[in-house]
Amino acid sequence: MEGVIYKIERLAVYDGPGIRTVIFLKGCPLACVWCSSSESQKLIPEIGFWQEKCVACGACVDVCRSKAIGKDKNRNILQHFEACTNNGDCVRACLYQARKMIGGKVTVDEVVTELEKDAVFYHRSEGGVTLSGGDPICQPLFSARILERAVQMGFHTAVETSAYGDWPAFAGILDHLDLVYVDVKHMDMSAHKALTGKGNQRILDNIQRLDKQYPDLDLILRIPVIPGKNDSKDNIQKTGQFAAGLKTLKRIELLPYHRYGVSTYFVIGRSYALNEIDSPSREQVERLKAVLVSQGIFDVRIGG
Ligand code: SF4
Ligand code: SF4
Repeated sequence: MEGVIYKIERLAVYDGPGIRTVIFLKGCPLACVWCSSSESQKLIPEIGFWQEKCVACGACVDVCRSKAIGKDKNRNILQHFEACTNNGDCVRACLYQARKMIGGKVTVDEVVTELEKDAVFYHRSEGGVTLSGGDPICQPLFSARILERAVQMGFHTAVETSAYGDWPAFAGILDHLDLVYVDVKHMDMSAHKALTGKGNQRILDNIQRLDKQYPDLDLILRIPVIPGKNDSKDNIQKTGQFAAGLKTLKRIELLPYHRYGVSTYFVIGRSYALNEIDSPSREQVERLKAVLVSQGIFDVRIGG
């Protein structure tokens, strides 16, 4: 079985206990306006163009049969992303590393071979494997098979997900998990839709369902703190009320907004919607933490 991934990070010490290997899958059901990994959103491998590395040799123009590459009046190279078929011909023609395919197809066996290389670190540190993205829920069978094999090898397993998916597909992933991270981006349906492109009902339903049906699973809820978008006291209180009723809840993590990854939007020909927002101050995030603690949620951390 094949899936599409865009990165593997080894010896990671985040996104789960111990030393971990984090597999980043492509594809996400949401389109959050603050997304810091725009290259993960589409389920397909796609072309990236790093203009600053380009010496305008023109080799890519010659090989592109889709006329997706042109030149401006100063002979600078222009990428027409809307015409690109992502066939990668220009990547092979470019000798200056100004072009790269972001993501590629891999088999479950190939991923498992990578995981096996780090087994000694997992066992010594009580670490394991984390599927991230994008969102593993976009490739549910591929994700489930990797996790199943990881469990068979005795590795701790974790997934970072939006939980926006059909329950049977989500449950197929949960069946092989020790720990699940789920983002709760906004408790108001219409605000959630405006910020992410989708409503929140399916997400909240799936969280409650996993809480009932997977009592041994550890659940960590994450709230991205986006100033002016979801950081009101009212929204954090509502999130706290929802979370306080979950038996599997291990903790809540508040993730302050940052602008890492914004430059990648331009590499893949998209625009970034939140140009005017600054990161929240430590004091602002501490105040939100205090709101959650006052609701009886005692393990609240700032950062992942
Ligand atoms: S990936 Fe293919 S279609 Fe896209 S710019 Fe390169 S050569 Fe042209
Ligand atoms: S082949 Fe590479 S260096 Fe040459 S024009 Fe194209 S992107 Fe620029």
